[in-house]
Amino acid sequence: MDTKYIFVTGGVSSSLGKGILTASLAKLLQARKMRVTIQKFDPYINIDPGTLNPYEHGECYVTEDGAETDLDLGHYERFLGVYTSKANNVTTGKVYKTVIEKEREGAYLGKTVQVVPHITDEIKRRMLLLGKTGKYDVVLTEIGGTVGDIESLPFIEAERQLHWELPDDDIVTIHLTLIPYLRAAKELKTKPTQHSVKQLQEYGIQPDIIVCRTEMPLFESMKRKVALFCNVKENAVIECLDSPSIYEVPLSMYKEGLDRIVLEKFGIKGAPEPDLTNWKAFLDRLNHPKYSVDIAVVGKYVELQDAYKSILESFVHAGAANLSKVNVHYVQSEELKDGNLDEKLGCYDGILVAPGFGERGLEGKIRACKYAREKGVPFFGICLGLQMAVIEFARDVCGILDANSTEIDPGAADPVIDLMEDQKSLTIKGGTMRLGAYKCHIENDTLAYRIYGKQDISERHRHRYEFNDKYLKVIEDHGMKASGRNPDTGLVEIVEITSHPFFIGVQFHPELKSTPEHPQPIFCAFVAAALKHKGKRDAK
Ligand code: GLN
Repeated sequence: MDTKYIFVTGGVSSSLGKGILTASLAKLLQARKMRVTIQKFDPYINIDPGTLNPYEHGECYVTEDGAETDLDLGHYERFLGVYTSKANNVTTGKVYKTVIEKEREGAYLGKTVQVVPHITDEIKRRMLLLGKTGKYDVVLTEIGGTVGDIESLPFIEAERQLHWELPDDDIVTIHLTLIPYLRAAKELKTKPTQHSVKQLQEYGIQPDIIVCRTEMPLFESMKRKVALFCNVKENAVIECLDSPSIYEVPLSMYKEGLDRIVLEKFGIKGAPEPDLTNWKAFLDRLNHPKYSVDIAVVGKYVELQDAYKSILESFVHAGAANLSKVNVHYVQSEELKDGNLDEKLGCYDGILVAPGFGERGLEGKIRACKYAREKGVPFFGICLGLQMAVIEFARDVCGILDANSTEIDPGAADPVIDLMEDQKSLTIKGGTMRLGAYKCHIENDTLAYRIYGKQDISERHRHRYEFNDKYLKVIEDHGMKASGRNPDTGLVEIVEITSHPFFIGVQFHPELKSTPEHPQPIFCAFVAAALKHKGKRDAK
C-alpha cells in the first residue's frame, strides 16, 4: 500500500482544536493497526517556537531528538504514545532558511527564486518526507492557522499541488470549521462554514470531509445543507460536539464515522475495528474518580492555560492512575511574600514549582520551596523548580546566605546554580540550550528509585543552568541528596530531601513523556503523596 496522506485545515476561527482532531483520527487509525505519524506545519517565520515567550505561543514542547516545537506535538505524542521528531514540526522560517541557503550555495543558478515553485516545492518535499521513510502507512499533516490567512497560503498551495500529483485515493483533506450557535435567534448557522469552504475551493482545494465544531447537536437537515453547499457527500459532514475531555474525542469521532469515511476515501477495505481497550480503561478511571486532591502550580505564566500544557495533562493522567481528580490551582509566584504563604499555599495538598526563564517571580518560587520543605507538604520542582529548591536549601539549611543562580545574579558570590560550561561561549539563542533526551542514573535506596523502580532512565531537557558540583558535598551533608545524575557528565538531574515525606526536584521535564496509557511515574507518586498528605490533614 502507498503511504496515505491526510491534511487537516481550519476554517472560520482559530482554537477549534485541529491538533486534537488530528490526534484523535490518528489514534483511531493506529487502533486499527496502521502505522501513523502526525506533523504540524506552522506559518510563522521563527525557525521554531524556542525563542517565543509562552504568552505568545503557549508551552514549547521538546522532542526526544531535541527539537523545540509547537505544543500540538505534545498532543500527538500523548494520543499515539509514539515519539515525534525534528521532522514533525515545520515552520515557514525553516522552509525559507533551506531555500535561501540553497540559493547562496548556487543551487538555483540563473533562476529567480520565487514562492511558487521554490518555496512550495520545499514545502511539498517536507510534507512527503516522513511518508518516504517507509515507517508509516498514514501521515497526517495539520496546517496551522485559518484558511484565508496570508501566512499559510504557500502551505495551502503546496497541498493543492499534492492533490494534483498524488493518486486520488492517497490523499484526503479534512476541513475543521465552526457552526456557531446564535443564542438570541436560537439557531445554528452554517454560513461561516460555507464561506470558509468557498475560500478553500478558490485556492483549488475541494475538502473531502468537513468536521463541524458545534456546541449544539446538528440536525440532519443542517448536515445536508453543509454537504450541498460545500460539495461533499452527506456522510462526510461530521459533527464534533464540545466534549468534557479532549481524550473523549477519539470515541466521539469513531461514533461519527470519521475513520470509516477516511478509509473509504483511501479505498481501504477490511481494516480491523479499532482496539481502544486501554484508552477506554483510562477514560473509565478518569470519569469515575474516588478521591480528589488540590495541587498548587507555582509559576509566572499562570494567566495562560497553555503555558504549562504538558504539566496539566500529566496531572490528568496521574490523577486517573490514582483514581483521583486533581484540581490544579495556579499560584502567581510574584504574589508570594513572606507574610502571605499560609494564606496563598496553606490549602493545597501538594506544591509544584514550575519551569521558567528569567528573573521575574523567582524569589516567590524560592519561598514556595521553603514553605513546602518546612511544612512537610509534598513538593515537586521541575527544572527551574529544582534550581529554586537548591538555592532555598543552600541559603536556609546550609547557611550559604548568598546562594543564588547566575541566571538571577550573574555576579553571585555563591553560584549554587550556574551556567553550564558549554553554554558559556554561546552567543546564539535559538536551539542552543541543552535539549532533548539524556540518560540519568538513579541511586539505589532513594525516593527517585522507589518512584521509577529502576536505576537507568531517560528524560527530556531544556535548560542552560545546572547544579554547581562545587556545592554538592555541603548540600548533601545537610540532607539534600543528588539521587540521579547523568552517567556521562555527572550533571545532577534529581535532588531529594531524605527526611521529608516527599520532596523531589528534577532538572529534566518529566511532563513531556506522560501519556494516558503510560502516566509519568513522578507525577503518579506526587499525586499519591498529595492524597496521603490530605488524609493526614483531614485527620487532624
Ligand atoms: N531557566 C533555567 C535554565 O535555563 C530553567 C529552565 C527551565 O525551567 N526549563 O536552566
